[in-house]
Amino acid sequence: MPSVLIAPYITAWSAEQDLPCVLVEWPDRGIGYANELLSDRDRHGVLWQQTALRHRVGWPEFTRVRPLRQRRAMELLLCQVCGGPADRNDDGVLWLQRDHRDDWPQWPEGMASMEPPVCLTCVPVAMQMCPVLRRGAVLVHVREYQIAGVRGALYRRSVLAPSAIVAGNFTYDDPAVRRVLASALIRELRGCTTVSFEELHAVGKERFSPVTTRGMSRSDSSNSGASGRLISWMIRYSCTHRSNPRSSLNRMTNVTSFLSP
Ligand SMILES: [Zn+2]
Repeated sequence: MPSVLIAPYITAWSAEQDLPCVLVEWPDRGIGYANELLSDRDRHGVLWQQTALRHRVGWPEFTRVRPLRQRRAMELLLCQVCGGPADRNDDGVLWLQRDHRDDWPQWPEGMASMEPPVCLTCVPVAMQMCPVLRRGAVLVHVREYQIAGVRGALYRRSVLAPSAIVAGNFTYDDPAVRRVLASALIRELRGCTTVSFEELHAVGKERFSPVTTRGMSRSDSSNSGASGRLISWMIRYSCTHRSNPRSSLNRMTNVTSFLSP
């Protein structure tokens, strides 16, 4: 029986490489693409990193998140694991986060999260397969989850073409965001209520069965030539959690000094 390859919805696949878009300076608009399309920017006018749309082609690259699927999951409040609707109740939308309650009082209140929410079904899957989450995770219902900004690379003017100088989190009202190539959407989490796993278990006991998610990307390793990548996923799925910017929004990057020519 072939092993099964499983990847979270937001994970980039090997065929989803960056497109060869040429960055240029646009007068009064910051950076842009030489052959820019309307879809290259979000509703706030921020430019987004463009990668090929080849979901489930090749093998999942667990250290990379596909920017536009992350953005879609964040905008539509989809589960980052299966891509279906995230769980919600009267206390808000469900998020699964690494446990950083020592970071500041009332954590994760005010947290800037790049992690999309999750559905109830996928909580046990993520908990079983992600070693980082197994070391400590917190389930939180969130009442307010305003879109606050993006994570991306900041570009400065250069002789030939804009050049990247620093990666960071940028609010949409930051003038520097016009010089950012975005790779992830950020929501600010407020009105957080911690949920115990026992409580969740009582709600969805029948869903806590091993690896039976409804919409996760999967393929036979015999087809992809990716023998053993289920184990790889178990080891490396944590990467998206490591990249989570846990800072509150008022700690977002102050970049004024970087922009001086
Ligand atoms: Zn799910």
